[in-house]
Amino acid sequence: MLKTSHWVRPALHRSVKNSVDLSKTSIIQWIRDSGVGGREGTGRHIADWMEGSEMKNPAEPGRSVPGRDTRDGGTQTDSRIPGPDPRLSKENLFTLLSLWMELFPQEQSEEDDHSEIRGTGLVVVRDGKVVGLLCSGPELHAGQAAILQHGACLAGCQLYFSRRPCASCLKMIINAGVSQISFWPGDPELSMLRPGSANHSSSRGAPGCISEEAALDAVATEKLKSNSRPHICVLLQPLAQGLAQFVDETSRGSDFIERMSDDEPGLNTEELFNGERTRHLKAFSRRLLIKTPEQHRDILTHMGLENFCVEPSFSNLRHNMRELVEVLAAVAAGVPQQDYGFHREQHSTPEQSPAESSPPARLEVLSQEGARHCIIQARLLAYRTGDPKVGVGAVIWAKTPSAASNGTGHLCLVGCGYNAYPAGSHYAEYPQMDTKQEDRQRRKYRYIVHAEQNALTFRTRPIKPEEPAVLFVTKCPCDECVPLIRGAGIAHIYTSDQDRDKDKGDISYLRFGGLRSIGKFVWRKSPAVVPASPPPHANGCTGKHSRPAERESRSNKKRRADSSNDSPTMELGGINAASR
Ligand SMILES: [Zn+2]
Ligand SMILES: [Zn+2]
Repeated sequence: MLKTSHWVRPALHRSVKNSVDLSKTSIIQWIRDSGVGGREGTGRHIADWMEGSEMKNPAEPGRSVPGRDTRDGGTQTDSRIPGPDPRLSKENLFTLLSLWMELFPQEQSEEDDHSEIRGTGLVVVRDGKVVGLLCSGPELHAGQAAILQHGACLAGCQLYFSRRPCASCLKMIINAGVSQISFWPGDPELSMLRPGSANHSSSRGAPGCISEEAALDAVATEKLKSNSRPHICVLLQPLAQGLAQFVDETSRGSDFIERMSDDEPGLNTEELFNGERTRHLKAFSRRLLIKTPEQHRDILTHMGLENFCVEPSFSNLRHNMRELVEVLAAVAAGVPQQDYGFHREQHSTPEQSPAESSPPARLEVLSQEGARHCIIQARLLAYRTGDPKVGVGAVIWAKTPSAASNGTGHLCLVGCGYNAYPAGSHYAEYPQMDTKQEDRQRRKYRYIVHAEQNALTFRTRPIKPEEPAVLFVTKCPCDECVPLIRGAGIAHIYTSDQDRDKDKGDISYLRFGGLRSIGKFVWRKSPAVVPASPPPHANGCTGKHSRPAERESRSNKKRRADSSNDSPTMELGGINAASR
């Protein structure tokens, strides 16, 4: 019997679907009242925009914003048509991705507590699609990294920052002609919580305590904001009813956790998940939220967001921020950091493909931390799925020859996507039945565009042999996708292979196992903790890092373990641990 290895939406959510969500009304009100954005009428504009994307506001039916398509333009279906289950709004997805990008693992991993400049994540969106995922690094701020990576192509883009960018970033971004800048309303990039002054204690951080630099920056950003063409605003939305619970349940039952439970039937996965989630929640809250309401009010006031400090807007704002951080913690906990990771599969008879006969000069292997981060990016994307039952997310990164001094180092986004019905379709236009239902004609599989397919279709840079492309996908690539992935020239795949070798009739996973020309890194117990005798090693590494004979699971009888050229670098820290 096939196990369900992906999202099965609990029936519960259907019952709450159409109930009135009062918090949404108040948020629209809050944004209208607040007039965020620096230009006349912006509050109204944002409310319209929210309406177009996720909420129907009866007060202004049919009003549309010129130049801003209210319908998703490619990978997504129109979210105004009530789907059967909750999903993330686009604004919240982009916000969550920006927060997650702030946490991108870096070689100098921990934030320097003494620096006034805080690490910042950034998502660049064009026509409703993510075209850039960035974060600040040792030298460059996230906004500066975006300028270097996208240049004049930023014109017309929407930017989502995990902190309000500093004035030096803001002036360049405004100048590049972006259409909108949204930021997470916590401590800004030039911190107000931990000014560089010697007598500062980070537990204090309050008005009057902020450094002269931060105060000057706040004034400058206000000035830039009020004179700028792009809308500079805070775009946060309450979660759809039932979404928090849905994210929690589907994260608990992720393919990654399921693999662990298959390997060790006695494992208490509930406890494991709860522990991971609590740990993340603590860390994320410390970094992304403002502890006390007083401190938060002070910061908002300094940023010119006094209107946010009025009740009930202020409580709503803090509540929405908290909820999003909880979602992030649950999504991250779906890929636990315990003895498991993405480990390269070896083949005893490697198939020689043209790409492999002249291997790219720099095919470095990602650290486990880096791989996990990218898979969680894909997990976040999956919560925008158009498929009523199975959410899948995919992200493709390229490894560029020269490392930019931003936070992602050699990695540069190629594309990302999630599974959805074709562009422009309405939610109920296509069949939504799955393999468990009888009528094959009415099954969804012939209509849904897969996550990998969307990521490849809407890629923002070409896949070149000299820039090896790495695909991260939350579910085993199916037989329809395998030739596309191979044809596109993807060099490495990171995935869960829970569905490997399964044939479900309308969708099958038989070709993944035979895919030899691409390096496959699948979610497995770390070879370092699997008790087995170490095989001989040809590369001079210690037995600790070499690959033991792997226990074969029921669905993986075809796999062969072989120690010919396994990378020992998977156990090392750092995003570009070492080259093979
Ligand atoms: Zn900056
Ligand atoms: Zn597929």
